[in-house]
Amino acid sequence: YANVAKGKLTFSGVSYRYHGAEQDALSDVNLEVAAGKKIALLGRTGCGKSTLLQLITRNWDPQRGTILIDDVSLTEWQESALRKSIAVVSQRVDIFNGTLRNNLKMANSSASDDDFKEVLNQVGLQVLLEEPGLDMWLGDGGRLLSGGEKRRLSIARALLRNAPVLLLDEPTEGLDARTEQQILSLILEHAKNKTVVFITHRLIGLTDMDEICLMDEGRIIEQGSHQTL
Ligand code: ATP
Ligand code: MG
Repeated sequence: YANVAKGKLTFSGVSYRYHGAEQDALSDVNLEVAAGKKIALLGRTGCGKSTLLQLITRNWDPQRGTILIDDVSLTEWQESALRKSIAVVSQRVDIFNGTLRNNLKMANSSASDDDFKEVLNQVGLQVLLEEPGLDMWLGDGGRLLSGGEKRRLSIARALLRNAPVLLLDEPTEGLDARTEQQILSLILEHAKNKTVVFITHRLIGLTDMDEICLMDEGRIIEQGSHQTL
C-alpha cells in the first residue's frame, strides 16, 4: 500500500511482549482514532504508552492483533509510504552527529534553508541562526545543544515532516511551563487537520484533545472526553 495516509488509526486486539520479558507490555489493546482526531494517552510510568506509539512506527510488530492505518494493516504498507504518513517526536530525542541543516534535512529533504529558518524561528531556536547557523555542528547525540534546544529541534523536525499522523511522546519534557504552553499551541495549530496521539503525564493540553485514554499495565482502562474523565 503506497499512498500517503489519510490518518485513521486502529488497534485491534494488540498485544506485545518484549523479548525475554515475563509480562506483556501491551495487552489486548483496542483503539480507534478517526482521521484528524486527537487522543491523549495517560498513565503511570511503565504502563506501555511509548510501546504503543512505537508499534505504530513499526519499530516492532505485535505478537497478537493488528494495527491498521486507513483500514490497511501496517504489514501491508510500503515502508516509504508509512514514513511519509507519520511524524514522531519521540521520548528520547535522536539527533545525529552532523550539522543543524542535515539534522533538519532528514525530516524533509526537499525543504529549503529558508524553510529551515522559518521553522527554527517558530520553535524558538532563533539563537541557532546566528553564525555558523545551519552549518553548526551538533556533535554526538546533539551534545553541543542544551536539553531544551534538542527538544525544540525534534519538534521542528516533526513540523517539517508535515505528515497526516503526528505521534508525540512527552514532546515538552524538560521545558519550562511557559515554553511548554507556547510549543503545545504551535504543535496543535500545525496539527489542526492531522491525527494526533499525544503521550503526556501532565494535564496541560488535554482540553484540546478529542479523547483521553488512561492506561494501566498495558491496557486501556478508561476512555472518554476531557469532561467525562
Ligand atoms: P514512561 O511514562 O516511563 O515513559 P511508558 O508508559 O512509556 O513509561 P513503556 O516504555 O511503553 O512505558 O514500557 C512498558 C513496559 O515495557 C515497561 O515495563 C518497560 O520496562 C518495558 N520496556 C520498555 N522498553 C523495553 C525494551 N526495549 N526492552 C524490554 N522491556 C522494555
Ligand atoms: Mg514512555
